[in-house]
This record gives sequence, structure tokens and C-alpha cells, in this order.
Amino acid sequence: MATTSFSKKTLGLEAAEPAATPPSGPTETSFIRKPKLGAARSRKKDIPEGLWTKCLKCATMIYDKELDENLKVCPHCGFHFQIGARERINALVETCSFEEMDAQMASVDALKFTGVSPYTERLDDYQRTTGLKDAVITGICRINSYRAALGVMDFSFLGGSMGSVVGEKLTRLIEAATNKGLALIIISSSGGARMYEGMFSLMQMAKTAAALAYHAKNRLPYISVLTHPTTAGVMASFASLGDLIIAEPGAMIGFAGPRVIKDTTQAELPPGFQTAEFLQAHGFIDAIVPRKEMRERLAYYLDFLLEGQRKLAALS
Ligand SMILES: [Zn+2]
Repeated sequence: MATTSFSKKTLGLEAAEPAATPPSGPTETSFIRKPKLGAARSRKKDIPEGLWTKCLKCATMIYDKELDENLKVCPHCGFHFQIGARERINALVETCSFEEMDAQMASVDALKFTGVSPYTERLDDYQRTTGLKDAVITGICRINSYRAALGVMDFSFLGGSMGSVVGEKLTRLIEAATNKGLALIIISSSGGARMYEGMFSLMQMAKTAAALAYHAKNRLPYISVLTHPTTAGVMASFASLGDLIIAEPGAMIGFAGPRVIKDTTQAELPPGFQTAEFLQAHGFIDAIVPRKEMRERLAYYLDFLLEGQRKLAALS
């Protein structure tokens, strides 16, 4: 048909024309349409960034300042965007009450790991772009009238992965809580163990779990807060060991990803599988707490858990 030569010119594929042209008529039109769609999509990306964010759930455009003021929660549908560890700490603790621990602890490349790029290079990049030394911030804080040990993970640093620094900082935090007789709160957000550190990252699972056992032995409460996403080695260690396990709405929580589980079990997964709501319905999570209520709910839980502890102490 006459249309073929016309459409080829618009695509700018002159060099490939003779070999790429199939002999029959009808298939040619579908071949031509595909690149046109791609070109239209790339033009859409030119919308200036930095002032507005599109909600990933309801697709509403939200003014960034409004989003920040709302603790990175969509004001229209309540979708919880990821939030940095520092922002989260500021929103949770009493002003100026956070005393950070091990702020300068940073990872070393013990295995001389080189993947797509060397581990040391990746660490430098993330430290520069996030302003963090690693994927967790730990310290002692005050929430309402309670002093508590608080650890907050940050997904923006290498996917919140747990390497030796995350494990060591959390272990020291748990031990400090045990020694000072404080309640412990860990807010998780992680893709799991850090592959760049191989076995060293897996050892952190046992180390944190052991420190938590001592903390529990001292009858001190531990509240684990799961945020989107909390998976793999972190979920399989300290994140699932809370006396109270709470989660943010819509958080993805699990060990392996749904695709891996589907391929392994060869079974259809139920709707909502691995969401906070699904896990609450099945008894794994005690409560789902929206981010804006987190501070007062944590204070309420601490009040409840420590009251029980005080009564037990009075009885014994
Ligand atoms: Zn929304």
C-alpha cells in the first residue's frame, strides 16, 4: 500500500528500511504504530519536577510543601509515601530530646565486592546524596514523658539494607535499652540483608535477635513498627520479634516477594497478600497506625506496656 513509504519517513528509520520492511500489507501498520506511542510518552516526561508529586495511589498532583507538612501522606487518599529517618524522628520525639548514638559508624568493604560498581563507590554515592552514614539512625529519645531507645531505618540508603553497620548500631541500641531499663522502638523499612557484605550481613540477624532476647529477659517492652516495605532478612529477624508489632497502612510486609512465592508454590496468591491489612487480618500484626497518629499511639502503648511492668515489679 502507498501508506508504507510515508510512515517510514516520519520514523526516521531510513537506514533500516529495506531489511525491516515485511512483504505483506496489514502487519506493517502495527509495526509503525509502536514507536509513535513511545515518542509521545517521552515527551510527557518533560513536566518540570521538584514542586509537585503525583500520588502513586489516587494519581492526584500534590504540592510538595503540602506533602511535607502532611508527613508525606497523600491528603486526598491517605497513601503513605516513604519518609526519611530524620523527618520521621522529628515527627515522633519531643523537641531536642533525641540523643543520637554511633552517628559516625560507617561500613567498610570487607569482601572487596565489585558488582555493577564497587561497594565503596556505592557507599560514597549514597552517603553524599542522602546525608546519612548508613541505613539506620539510633538514639535515646523522649516520647511524651517516656524515655525510650529508638532506631529508625531509612529506605533511601541502599534500599534500607542491613549490613554490619545497621546490625551493630541496632544491637548497641538494644543493649543500651537493656542496660538503662528502657523500652525499645524500632521502625523498619528494608529490602533485607545487604548483598555487598555477604555472610557479614546475614550474621546481623542472629546478633540483633540475641540482643533482643536479653532485652526481653529484663521484662522490657519492644515495639516493632513496620513501614513500607519491610522484607527479607530484616523481617526474618528483629522486625518480627516485637512484643507489639504495628504497621503503617498499605505497607508491604513479607519475606520473599510475591512473584517468587507464586513461582515456588505454583499457587494463586490471595488478594492483598503481604499487605499490612492482610497480615493484621491473619493475626501477625497487632495494629495498623496511620503516620499522623503514630506519636500519640506509641505514647499510649508505652504507657500501657510500662504500667504492666511497674505492677509486676511491685508484686515481685
Ligand atoms: Zn492519593
